[in-house]
Amino acid sequence: MPARIIDGRAVAAGLRAVLAARVAGLGYAPGLVVVRVGEDPASGVYVRNKDRAAKEAGFSSRTIHLPETTTQAELLAQIAALNADDAVDGILVQLPLPGAIDAQAAINAVAPAKDVDGFHPINAGRLASGQPGLVPCTPRGVMHLLAGTELRGARAVVLGRSQIVGRPMAQLLLGADCTVTIAHSRTRDLAGECARADILVAAVGRPEMVRADWVKPGATVIDVGINRLADGRLVGDVAFDEVSAVAGAITPVPGGVGPMTIACLLENTLDAAIARRG
Ligand code: NDP
Repeated sequence: MPARIIDGRAVAAGLRAVLAARVAGLGYAPGLVVVRVGEDPASGVYVRNKDRAAKEAGFSSRTIHLPETTTQAELLAQIAALNADDAVDGILVQLPLPGAIDAQAAINAVAPAKDVDGFHPINAGRLASGQPGLVPCTPRGVMHLLAGTELRGARAVVLGRSQIVGRPMAQLLLGADCTVTIAHSRTRDLAGECARADILVAAVGRPEMVRADWVKPGATVIDVGINRLADGRLVGDVAFDEVSAVAGAITPVPGGVGPMTIACLLENTLDAAIARRG
């Protein structure tokens, strides 16, 4: 039987509608500020999409676009001003930053209470120690897509160990009582590790690397990867056509995890607003 397709667009639309209703009941518009530095073209698209989704859901949203020549000190001063601004609930520093700026220094400068990307070491530490905090948007989105999937005791394999996807993803699955393995470029038997997974989350950035014989029949496969091929097609880290014949459920690319990331940015902003202002 072909896999059930997990429709991220529909889940994200549902989440955005719920968030919009909650914002409407607040009596104030939670404030999101995206700081963009320089002219990375993909960032331009992401930032516009975030701004539009935020406004549609009733958030107050603005983008501060600084020139490519911005120094690290100038960026840190801008972040400090936003930290001190009571109308700002969430701050997101759009990555990548120009080479002259230390991205980790910028991430560390954001007040943890306003760190809606969930990348600050305080929030990463809270997640790792099982305490409440702001969680990176993409893994949070994956957890929404797994709602209704039996997680307790399930064997989960996370392929990829980045700070923004793999590691926080593994922590969230562990927190949901999965037995978690994190696989990466030095893992010996990648196919064998993946083939034991009841839940397989691929976040490697390698087009269609996960093949059908890497997947346990009936497994739930979440494809975080977004890869642009030379012919212009967008594909994930999972060979969708062949894996969907084996898996029990699978996310498509596009239309799977991608739409959840922005929805969860809004969810984080609302959480940050409520935590600060009630
Ligand atoms: P990174 O490049 O930061 O991390 C990739 C991870 O995959 C690393 O841990 C690396 O291992 C591992 N890896 C790379 N190649 C192999 C290999 N051949 N075998 C085994 N492991 C390998 O990527 P990100 O985590 O930032 O992103 C991963 C993918 O997810 C990308 O396609 C990205 O575009 C996409 N993405 C999608 C988002 C969305 O909204 N849907 C949001 C963020 C990312 P090692 O640590 O050993 O080097």
